[in-house]
Amino acid sequence: MQANTQKWIEADQAYAWHPFTDQAAWCHENFQPLILERGEGIWLFDSEGKKYLDANSSIWTNIHGHNHPQINQAIRDQLERVAHTSYLGFGNPRASELAEKLCAFFPDNTLRKVFFSDNGSTAVECAMKMALQYRMQTGDPQRTKFIAFANAYHGDTMGAASLGGVTRFFDRFRKFGIEVIFMKNVEELLAYSDDEKNIAAVIMEPGVQGVNQMHVWKYGEITQVRNWCDEQEVQLIFDEVMTGFGRTGRMFACQEEDVYPDFLCLAKGLTGGYMPLAATLTTARIYDAFLGEKNAFYYGHSYTANQLGCAAALASLEIFQRENVLDNVASRSEELHQWLTEIAEKSEGKISVRQKGLIAGIEIHDGRTGKEICTLLQAQGLLTRPILNTIVFMPPLCITSDELQHAFTMFESVFFVR
Ligand SMILES: *Cc1c(COP(=O)(O)O)cnc(C)c1O
Repeated sequence: MQANTQKWIEADQAYAWHPFTDQAAWCHENFQPLILERGEGIWLFDSEGKKYLDANSSIWTNIHGHNHPQINQAIRDQLERVAHTSYLGFGNPRASELAEKLCAFFPDNTLRKVFFSDNGSTAVECAMKMALQYRMQTGDPQRTKFIAFANAYHGDTMGAASLGGVTRFFDRFRKFGIEVIFMKNVEELLAYSDDEKNIAAVIMEPGVQGVNQMHVWKYGEITQVRNWCDEQEVQLIFDEVMTGFGRTGRMFACQEEDVYPDFLCLAKGLTGGYMPLAATLTTARIYDAFLGEKNAFYYGHSYTANQLGCAAALASLEIFQRENVLDNVASRSEELHQWLTEIAEKSEGKISVRQKGLIAGIEIHDGRTGKEICTLLQAQGLLTRPILNTIVFMPPLCITSDELQHAFTMFESVFFVR
């Protein structure tokens, strides 16, 4: 092992604390964490120079590959001007351009205003606070509860975590959170009636529930949820933190059914996976209820609308056009679909698969844990993380047909050879 690698691991184990990690296992003498040092397209290189396919897009963030010349250049150009200025009291060119571009994806009478923040959790916090404050200012202050779905994931800050339906992560903090009613599925929601009129909003990850082992909603379900919300006068929050920016085949998952929420939360892929930046989009109707000093939305973060982040996001949106990214997603998704069908058949019940666009969950029922399988995949040169026994395959959208085949070969060598 190179001296630098040794040094970085020692400092990490001595001083750092990782997310969602048992630090005892992380710091165990038999464990060698990878130190990722460099990236190029869909590839990552560790500090020893070994190359890995980034099969979960660096925790679902990366869109066009690492070290993309155009995003790099956009950040450099912005850096020559200014890196960050306060959005509290001032505007900035990149944020103006980005807000306009984001709204342009949606029909005129839908999402029309963009509130920037830093990450997926804050995008959700912001939607929650807006939904609650809107009710206080429009004569329904008793509407203080939220509805979320079982096994949903909406982030880790207190508010966002209280909407989380993944019991193993969130149950210990329930008692501190806000009131949330969990629905097992859409059917259960449709049968529910908010007779006390105390629900502020429903939150849903349209298209795919990521952390729920890539559960794919049935076509039509987001329309049913929207209709239920309209009947009950309840607002709808779509959390597209993971599904946004092309992963499901559409730019946004909600576009598949032409269904638009009252709040749309975006983060992970917004900057192409380069910088922490998030956006909560909402309608003119919501926005108008916040006009006037006593109604203003007192919420914000120091790095709101960071100029480098906005520059990266603008470059990422341009690449979608220039490189016909959604066409590549369509062709690659078809190849992925064929392969998933094949391995599920070949496995005789030991593998079940779920897919939407370039998002796949491959669930293994052969006695091995997801973690064991991912360790074997890493040795092959493929990086991903399991969710329980489901292996996530969510590559950057720029993946080529050859690279996809290469990934399939690595997966098969681990799935089928014992
Ligand atoms: C990742 C994720 C979040 C949280 O985003 P962070 O940037 O990690 O705070 C929220 N919702 C969904 C659906 C996510 O996948």
